[in-house]
Amino acid sequence: MTTPAAQLEADGVHTVVGTVVTPAGLTHAKTVPIRRLDAFADAGLGFSPVTHGFTIDRTGIAFAEGISVVGDQRIRIDLDALRTIGDGLAWAPASFFDQDGNPIPACARGTLARIESRLAQAGFRALVGHEIEFLLVDSNGNRLPGNLWAQYGLAGVLEYEGFIREVTVAAGTAGVDIEQFHPEYGVNQFEISLAPRSAVTAADQLILARIIIGRVARKYGLRVSLSPVPFAGSVGSGAHQHFSLLRGDVPVFSGGTGTQGMTPEGESAIGGIVSGLPQAQLIFCGSIVSGLRMKPGNWAGAYACWGTENREAAVRFVRGTHGNPHGANAEVKVVDPSANPYFATAAILGLALDGIEHSAPLPRETSVDPATLSDDARAAAGVLALSADQSEQITALDGSARLRAILGDAAVNALVAVRRYEHETYSQLDAEALTEKFRMAWSL
Ligand code: GLU
Ligand code: MG
Repeated sequence: MTTPAAQLEADGVHTVVGTVVTPAGLTHAKTVPIRRLDAFADAGLGFSPVTHGFTIDRTGIAFAEGISVVGDQRIRIDLDALRTIGDGLAWAPASFFDQDGNPIPACARGTLARIESRLAQAGFRALVGHEIEFLLVDSNGNRLPGNLWAQYGLAGVLEYEGFIREVTVAAGTAGVDIEQFHPEYGVNQFEISLAPRSAVTAADQLILARIIIGRVARKYGLRVSLSPVPFAGSVGSGAHQHFSLLRGDVPVFSGGTGTQGMTPEGESAIGGIVSGLPQAQLIFCGSIVSGLRMKPGNWAGAYACWGTENREAAVRFVRGTHGNPHGANAEVKVVDPSANPYFATAAILGLALDGIEHSAPLPRETSVDPATLSDDARAAAGVLALSADQSEQITALDGSARLRAILGDAAVNALVAVRRYEHETYSQLDAEALTEKFRMAWSL
């Protein structure tokens, strides 16, 4: 029998890259020669526990309980998710384990896998579709000319047609399903939407898509900013996540007798998320830069409410229609690219399940731009403005028994630690300095 390693070697692969994403939303990697493929998947490669405390200044460590210089962990690649990505490289996502092979609780990928199995035990299956907004910059991270750029303009496609073509081809070859790719609102900002997949697979595909985008950009002498706000005062980038839930094969967001055709479980899933937003905000959009995006008018969902096709609601409900053959789904718009996408999905699906288990009520639908309502009208409708203040977000997550029950203390403590470090070290910087300093922090 041909082993996967022998087959890959025959296909010209000589190096395998394994990646992990840590609580600050940073992507780390180790590589092995192809003959070490099985060792990478089985025994794993060493990573210090401090990895979970790596910070966005790219040198710091946020020490907290369990984040120590003593001890060792292993990252093990998932061979089922391995993809060849050209030029002799293969890539696979990895998860953290201890030396005895037990999962590490602060591992984002492992946490999401646990939520997926909890959903399955409760009889549900989730599909998740990621959107990737990013800004092209020059090789020093500076602004590129944009004199032809217009929002969703054809000129953006023609200016970067080689880049678009090569990303599309490379994604196809690597098995990443791009649904659409277009110029966005901001100058030199693009968006790629990925096809819905099961939760862990979808997050894996998102990381692979980022790798592909980064590699092709380099070929053109470009780089990719994944900062939520690459330039002060300019358009921000989101990392919106769409999800749908099925009980068995029956969708909960359509075919029911409730609001907008939801089933009672669909209503409670949305109710669970909307009520959990302030506590989970640090997970979705909690970096020191993220608050600059969390303002009305940015389509970032600055108000904790939901509405059908409402782009200013934190949760946009999308009905299943002829024009939306994937079926009804909910888009969590607050998520930005500084988030760890595995933790963000884990929080979304965990809150949805928690909502279902507690028959959470669905708040009244917000069918106008919430910023146009008076303070009294918003208060009467129970619509909260999400905080742009990182210290409030830290306190909310740290004290959330609900998110602690969903993600586990180790994960919450690590998420709190890395954001607290940012707050303690950098909150005196103004918007200009913050965006400049962290423009390339999440870049691959
Ligand atoms: N760029 C916006 C954000 O920061 C989203 C725009 C859109 O809805 O596509 O989330
Ligand atoms: Mg967009």
